[in-house]
Amino acid sequence: MSTTAASPQSPTAAPLPDEVRVAIVGSGFSGLGMAVGLLEDGERNFVILETADDIGGTWRDNVYPGCACDVPSHMYSFSFAPNPDWSRSFATQPEIWAYQQKVVERFGLRPYVRTRAEVTSATWHEDEQRWHVETPRGSLRAQFLVAGTGPLCEPKYPDLPGLDTFEGTVFHSARWRHDHDLTGERIAVIGTGASAIQFVPKIQPQAQSLVLFQRTPPWVLPRPDRPITRFERFLFRRLPFTQRLARLGVYLTRESFVLSFNHVGALRGLPRQVGLAHLKRSIPHDEALRAKLTPDYQVGCKRVLISNDYLPALGAPNADVVTSGIREVRPHSIVDHDGVEHEVDTIIHGTGFHVTDQPIAERLRGADGRLLAEHWQQGMEAYRGTTIEGFPNLFMLVGPNTGLGHNSIIYMIESQVRYVRDALRRARQGRFAAFTPKPAAVQADNDEVQRRLQGTVWTEGGCASWYMDARGRNTTLWPDFTFLYRRRVARFDEEQYETTPVRRREIERETVGV
Ligand SMILES: Cc1cc2nc3c(=O)[nH]c(=O)nc-3n(C[C@H](O)[C@H](O)[C@H](O)COP(=O)(O)OP(=O)(O)OC[C@H]3O[C@@H](n4cnc5c(N)ncnc54)[C@H](O)[C@@H]3O)c2cc1C
Repeated sequence: MSTTAASPQSPTAAPLPDEVRVAIVGSGFSGLGMAVGLLEDGERNFVILETADDIGGTWRDNVYPGCACDVPSHMYSFSFAPNPDWSRSFATQPEIWAYQQKVVERFGLRPYVRTRAEVTSATWHEDEQRWHVETPRGSLRAQFLVAGTGPLCEPKYPDLPGLDTFEGTVFHSARWRHDHDLTGERIAVIGTGASAIQFVPKIQPQAQSLVLFQRTPPWVLPRPDRPITRFERFLFRRLPFTQRLARLGVYLTRESFVLSFNHVGALRGLPRQVGLAHLKRSIPHDEALRAKLTPDYQVGCKRVLISNDYLPALGAPNADVVTSGIREVRPHSIVDHDGVEHEVDTIIHGTGFHVTDQPIAERLRGADGRLLAEHWQQGMEAYRGTTIEGFPNLFMLVGPNTGLGHNSIIYMIESQVRYVRDALRRARQGRFAAFTPKPAAVQADNDEVQRRLQGTVWTEGGCASWYMDARGRNTTLWPDFTFLYRRRVARFDEEQYETTPVRRREIERETVGV
């Protein structure tokens, strides 16, 4: 095992360093954004640990047909790495993944990445003021740990009676089986979330039959997607400010959604009318089907979905929507709660991810030896959505209440990265060796977030969504304008933390540059 940090020459398969200043867990937008920030600050003593065999997170794993972002690409990309070559307003998965790869090359991140290095545990050692991190490729020590492990990373499978007896093919949309040809098959899709509405219209035309098991219909609004013209791309390349303007336009439009979701309840009627008109236009002749697909909760309570082909696909002669629920799965069929048996060859789970019970919480042990999952027994909570009481020198990107229902999460990630960088700068200046947020600060911060959530569409819109945890508390969303969040994390507010001074030995180590 090497004794230095990842050197800029080492490939992703190189040995793990013994010790780093910063260990970043995950190589999605969070991990990559963090790494670029560190390099900008001149920090080279870090490593990016990644479970999979390549970088990319969401955009490496979700390769289902039709996978694309639903925030326009000018906004769903790093502000410091605009891509003038986006081919469409909503880029598809291959293009977004290629963009991430370009970011890795452009900023020279590859040498810092260690793939197949899943963090199986990380424990804070108070005596050493270090995290001990275990991976299948060995262990390392880190002064700071940044978890960029993603809110939508670990697929969630439904617990269906008899599923294990099913003799056909079963897979999750985030683990798409491209080796399995769906042509002419009888397909069951379970779930109606953001992924299902993208892949259903792509597979319906090739299926013999498609039966969609729907618990709750989503609000589906028109998707203003179009190719970006060659002239526009020329402009973006030659006059970069034009792309910045386009980005600003997207940002402001998306922020305006907060007015109806949060501040001005009276505005909620407008998106509802747009959604109902879209449904009528998409399925003009089948009132019964429209009734099944009409949500009975407010727009925005669940993630608003955009599609022009999902609703028409469900109106096709080979498609069926079942709303009574699943009673049991048999070797070649699914029986619904009305007792109807649906013969199927393949079951596709579009059932989302473990959001409020993230696997990383089972792997991090804080100062008192407790697992983060134990600490979060009453629900996820962090200070500024980023740092956690009793878990020194840990930062969580897209942590509790920093997810979004209305705009690009990359904006939030960049806001958090600034906060982390400021903390690390201060640590570097010798102001502290370790920190943990004061309990009172965590409490006040979370009370305020929960107060802001009151009266919003996310808590009172009349739906059960994955934004809520098992106790019915919304621990995932930032409930306001994103610039207000950015303002909250504009500087590392050291006064809200209990800090441990740098020991003399550490200062000497820093001074001689060991
Ligand atoms: C299909 C889909 C479409 C989406 N579209 C949008 C959109 O349009 N707009 C938007 O704002 N958001 C969207 N999202 C949300 C999306 O997850 C975020 O935008 C963003 O990609 C999150 O980046 P991340 O780096 O935080 O997490 P991820 O991209 O999930 O990356 C996490 C990484 O951490 C790694 N990892 C996890 N645990 C460990 C471990 N223990 N050890 C080592 N590595 C680990 C994973 O392998 C993964 O590579 C979408 C999500 C999905 C699933």
